[in-house]
Amino acid sequence: MESITSYQRSFFNTNATKDISFRINQLSRLEKVLNENMQDLEAAIYKDFRKSKFENYLTEFSLVFHDIKQAKRNLYRWSRKKKIPTNLTNFPAKCYSIPEPLGVCLVIGAWNYPYQLSLSPAIAAIAAGNTVVLKPSELPSETSAILTRLINDNFDASFFKVIQGGVAETTELLKQKFDKIFFTGSTKVGKIVYRAAAENLTPVTLELGGKSPTFITKGAHLKMAAKRIIWAKYLNAGQTCIAPDYILIDQTVSEEFLTYAKLEVEKVNYSFTNGNYLKIINNHNFDRLQRMIDSDKVYCGGENDRSQRYIAPTILKNVSFDDACMQEEIFGPILPVIVYRSLDDVISKVKAQPKPLSCYVFTNDAAVKKKILNEISFGGGAINEALMHITNPNLPFGGVGNSGIGSYHGEAGFRTFSHYKSILEKPTWLEFPIKYSPYSATKLKWLKRMLKFQ
Ligand code: NAD
Repeated sequence: MESITSYQRSFFNTNATKDISFRINQLSRLEKVLNENMQDLEAAIYKDFRKSKFENYLTEFSLVFHDIKQAKRNLYRWSRKKKIPTNLTNFPAKCYSIPEPLGVCLVIGAWNYPYQLSLSPAIAAIAAGNTVVLKPSELPSETSAILTRLINDNFDASFFKVIQGGVAETTELLKQKFDKIFFTGSTKVGKIVYRAAAENLTPVTLELGGKSPTFITKGAHLKMAAKRIIWAKYLNAGQTCIAPDYILIDQTVSEEFLTYAKLEVEKVNYSFTNGNYLKIINNHNFDRLQRMIDSDKVYCGGENDRSQRYIAPTILKNVSFDDACMQEEIFGPILPVIVYRSLDDVISKVKAQPKPLSCYVFTNDAAVKKKILNEISFGGGAINEALMHITNPNLPFGGVGNSGIGSYHGEAGFRTFSHYKSILEKPTWLEFPIKYSPYSATKLKWLKRMLKFQ
């Protein structure tokens, strides 16, 4: 591990990555390698998850290719030095900031979108002029293996290297000195990464999880809410960090919503053969999810097959905050529905929990929308929609509090992997004597007067 970081540091110190055309060439190479090997990439993710070609494109590569294209298109603009206003004290200087790469970066991926969550941060790091060590999640073994083969066969290890492994290898990696660590995963492991980074004062971005609430108020368009929520929840079999984790619904509209939701699940007909459903990543998660299903509360779904790691899209009704499914992030195809009489009460309950990664509000009431956006802190979200905010690269994506530190996507990703060097540049044709000794009462008067105009 040490030899890889020192090898990359030596390469970084040659300044090769500071050249924008070098970065663009590397991004083009990555795009080409992925395109040329798409069939193998599709086969690998099918083995790990039964993810279809359509969903592989929809949820992994449409985002990855867009990230590459956007970075290539905007790199010269993003990398330009940025003019900063100069204050009166420094007249006639000019001020600006210069983005510079941080150096050798470690990207640690999560398993649920194994290509996108590993490649998108790596693309942002490369665009910003860094070298990258990528550690994908070990759980989806096929996708992890093909990423390793494709990157390591096509890129020099001094610039971009994949290291496969689990806890032991990641622990070793975290002992090394990196200039940036970008981690996607659980809050629990996020704390381990943060502690390890502190040893070297390495800056971190932590993309973590949490329970994302979904409000449905009276007066909401219930049919559309059901359609959008069901899609967002059962995409990837609910194994999505920003999936609606649970629903909070006004009691006067809950039965009507449940009817629409069940009809929607039936209409979509989720199954492996339709290519619109995935298996659960492993038996550990399958068993964990089973323990969350209270059979007395199943409104629809509930069927399962451990040999296939299949859990049907499941909706639980009459759920309370004390139920098993409300004690941790679900991260699977189970949707609890909690009915409320008082919006204020449920807002207080959400606020008493760790800050979520996302929050969704289905309402036509402007005052309710404003109230929820004003009162609840969360990473990002949507009004009358779920999940889709992630598809706009102009919206920085990240959590807050327990759901994360920092953000990425689009230019935010470039910024995450850059340091902005602040510079003041002054000509030599003019110099005011005020800051120099000997000090005097007149100078002090002028100093105070000047500060008034800052
Ligand atoms: P995880 O924390 O178990 O694993 C993430 C990575 O950390 C993996 O590469 C794994 O090998 C490594 N790791 C695991 N244990 C470790 C340890 N003890 N020391 C060092 N490294 C260790 O997370 P996961 O199960 O892969 O992903 C699920 C979690 O990630 C959920 O909470 C989900 O919400 C979150 N997530 C967040 C985002 C986001 O963008 N914010 C995206 C996807 C997933």
